[in-house]
Amino acid sequence: MPLDLKTYSARLRVTDGAWGTQLQALGLPAGHCPELWNIDNPPAIRQVADSYVQAGSDVILTNTFGANRFILSQHGAGGRVKELAAAGARISRLAADKTGAKVFGSIGPTGKIVMMQDVPDEQIMEAFAEQAIALADGGVDAIVLETFNELQEAVLALRAIKKSVKLPVVVSLTFASGPDKTSTMMGDTPEALGVAAVAGGADAVGANCGVGPDNYVKVASMLRSACDLPVWIKANAGLPVVAGGKTTFPMSPQQFAAVVPDLLKAGANFIGGCCGTNPEFIRSIRKAVG
Ligand SMILES: [Zn+2]
Repeated sequence: MPLDLKTYSARLRVTDGAWGTQLQALGLPAGHCPELWNIDNPPAIRQVADSYVQAGSDVILTNTFGANRFILSQHGAGGRVKELAAAGARISRLAADKTGAKVFGSIGPTGKIVMMQDVPDEQIMEAFAEQAIALADGGVDAIVLETFNELQEAVLALRAIKKSVKLPVVVSLTFASGPDKTSTMMGDTPEALGVAAVAGGADAVGANCGVGPDNYVKVASMLRSACDLPVWIKANAGLPVVAGGKTTFPMSPQQFAAVVPDLLKAGANFIGGCCGTNPEFIRSIRKAVG
C-alpha cells in the first residue's frame, strides 16, 4: 500500500535539513558530484542520513537531488542514473529503518528550461521517470520534487513519475522572487502550484530553499488556501550572506525553530530545513513541536 500523505501528516511531521553542506564537512570537494559518493563513499552518505534520524526526523530524503541523466552527464556519469539513484535510496532506507522514519526520494530540476524548449518535453519526462523508477527500486516511500523554479518542469516531472511508479509525490518549488518573495524565478505563484498539483494528481505541495522560514509563513498559507493537499515547507536558515567569496546563513537553530508555531498556524504539515540548516536545526524544530 503506498503511503497516504494526508493521513501520515495529520499530525506535523519533521523532515530533515541540508545534505550538501554536511557532505562538504565530511570532505566532499566543492564542485564534485555529490551523487557519485553513493557508490564511492557510502559511509559518508550514511553518516548524514543517520545524523538526521538521530536528530528526530520523521522523514529523511536521499542524496539523489541531481541524479538525472542531464545533470549526471555534466560529470561524465549520464549513464549511471539507475545505479546512483537506487544506491542513494538504499542508504537512506537503512538509516531510516532504525527508527521507522520514512524515506522520500529527492528529485531536483534537470537544469533545462521547459518554456525555452531546450530539449523536447518527452526527453525531460523520460529522465524523471528513469530517476523515479530507480528510487522506487531502492525502496523509497515517496518522491519529493524539490527546488524547482519552473512550474512547467515540475508538472512534466509529476506526470512522468505518476505514470511510472506507484508512489506519493510532493511538488515543492522555490518561492523567493517578486515584490513579496512569493513567486518563483519564472513567475509561478503558490496558487498556480496548488491548481496544477491537484490537476496532476500530486499528494502534497510545498516550498523549499531560497528564503528563510519567516518568508515561507505567507507562502504556506497561500498554498493552504490554494488546495487541500498537505503542505511541505523547508526554508533556508535565513537569507544567505555572501562575504569574501563565502556564503553564510544568519539564523541560529533556535531562531529558526521560533518560526515553527507560525508555520503550523499557516497550515504546514511537514517542516524541515534547506540550505544552512543541519541536525541541530532539526533537534530545535523537534523540541518546538513537542
Ligand atoms: Zn536550499
